[in-house]
Amino acid sequence: MKKRPIAQMHIRKNIALVAHDHKKDDLLEWVRFNRDTLTQHNLYATGTTGWLLEQELGISITRLKSGPLGGDQQIGAKIAEGEIDFLIFFWDPLEAQPHDPDVKALLRIAVVWNIPIASNRATADFLISSTLMSRPYERLLTDFEEYRQRLKNRYPPPKS
Ligand code: PGA
Repeated sequence: MKKRPIAQMHIRKNIALVAHDHKKDDLLEWVRFNRDTLTQHNLYATGTTGWLLEQELGISITRLKSGPLGGDQQIGAKIAEGEIDFLIFFWDPLEAQPHDPDVKALLRIAVVWNIPIASNRATADFLISSTLMSRPYERLLTDFEEYRQRLKNRYPPPKS
């Protein structure tokens, strides 16, 4: 049987945190409670969320642009590049966002690359208390080779 590709998650994980405005207090409270665990990992966040988390945790966080200015897309790109392997994203189910397409894109790309996603506190609680948080983990990936090859037979490289 063909071996499935994997992405290696290390003990120290690269965790992205994002919260929409009405969810920021929720995230801050969760972060405060889980401070000891979170500070053992590398943290990334969108602009405003990251600024609040730095004040709360007193550690430096890789801060990207604010969500509506492209921060969600930056996180999505880092997931596709294998830099971020864990997502805590408290999105607001009761308010439309100016960057709704980016929110959807981020959630989609996280599923494509099979990374753990928590969209609410209960899920975040279960994720962070998993024993896998303190162990390496081999994340199974879909084999996209057929997808990558799909046009190569139709458009072979020119013969030299
Ligand atoms: P913010 O962005 O952390 O800059 O507020 C979050 C978002 O709305 O995606």
